[in-house]
Amino acid sequence: MVNLYWKEVVNLTVFSNEDEAEHVRKIFQWKLEGLGNYIIAKKLIESKVPTRQNSNWRGVTVDGIIKNKIYKGIREWNKDDLENYFEVNLDKYIIDPELWDKVNKVYKENIKNVGKKQQFNYLLDDILYCGKCGQKYFGKKRVQSTDSSYRCRGMVKFANHVCRDNRGVNIEKMDTFVIKHLFENKSLKELLINAPKNEGELSVLRQNLADLTKKKDAEIKNKNKLYKLLSNPDLEYDDQLINDYTKSKNKLGKLTDEINELSQKIAEVGNLKRNDLTKTLIESYTKDIDFGILKKLVNSLIERIEIDYDRKPSSHGGVFQFKIKYKNFEESSLFMSKSTLYEYFWIGYNRTQSITPEDLEEDREMEKGILSYKFKINSEEDYLNYLKENSLELKDEENPWSKNFIGNEISTSMNEKIIFTKEELINVN
Ligand SMILES: [Zn+2]
Repeated sequence: MVNLYWKEVVNLTVFSNEDEAEHVRKIFQWKLEGLGNYIIAKKLIESKVPTRQNSNWRGVTVDGIIKNKIYKGIREWNKDDLENYFEVNLDKYIIDPELWDKVNKVYKENIKNVGKKQQFNYLLDDILYCGKCGQKYFGKKRVQSTDSSYRCRGMVKFANHVCRDNRGVNIEKMDTFVIKHLFENKSLKELLINAPKNEGELSVLRQNLADLTKKKDAEIKNKNKLYKLLSNPDLEYDDQLINDYTKSKNKLGKLTDEINELSQKIAEVGNLKRNDLTKTLIESYTKDIDFGILKKLVNSLIERIEIDYDRKPSSHGGVFQFKIKYKNFEESSLFMSKSTLYEYFWIGYNRTQSITPEDLEEDREMEKGILSYKFKINSEEDYLNYLKENSLELKDEENPWSKNFIGNEISTSMNEKIIFTKEELINVN
């Protein structure tokens, strides 16, 4: 793992002092002149250039700098995770991108890409799901046809499938809707940036913190008890007691350190990581964005979109319903659209899970109370029987006796629309 010689912070601001920038430029210049990493490292040591870690310059350190795309203004995400890896252009750099490519001999790779057969880009292939059967919608582009759509696999394979009443959606319209919703609508950004932090990770960390604090309280009591014993003149020189007291003091110090460290981590995860990352992701979008990056951005922001079609809710024809679940958030949105798919009504914005374990317990108790009051259901057995008698499906997340219970949904009604015309359709191909 090569440490960056360059400072960077989570919100993508790259800042530096000019000295550091100058050293980096020199390294690239030497490399261009044909010097090896080892020689460059030696030159840097001779000129007393400091490394960021205050260690010595080595060939591998130089190599790390040469290969790091941050110097040509590209921030890489998920470097160790090939499947989710993507890049964001920062629009500022220290090394001219052309020079960077030249030094890194990127041109070799470009030659290999020539002559690839044409492939269609499907922006939403990974996140669209059928609301009726739960299978994925997949894109099928037809050259010279307007009938290019995302459809449910089940619908295509079996004529009498459970989802035969569902409907495919036009690819360009669906892509345009999602792009406009994610990147052009200001309300979504505001909602997500200000969303309460209730990640699973966070609640686990909080639980750990509570456990540690309990341990610490117990240890303080133990230490005080030992101290009292030590102040008893008869026991003053008891070796075992002194030993126990010292041990207790050390343990307390360790616990305090752990608690501080964990508190800091909770602050980071809760405040910085998710919401700031989301802001960064949303703001990374530009109209001329590369398809691969756009798809990664969309996949980083949306976990799934459930599509449901109601054929005849009224005499005016069918209506689509889109339920969008945002990635790493407990939040989701509900949209409705007529089958023409040019106008989308943002009906609701929901938080589907309780935020803290305490909230969840409160929801659980309330749900049990309601069931008891309304249906005289007082145990899980009653509950299961009630579902059975009324031919209702058991959903674990709705069962207040289940450990998978997720609490009540809090819904905010939205009053916004996303509208576009045929001329405004975005074609990612
Ligand atoms: Zn289906």
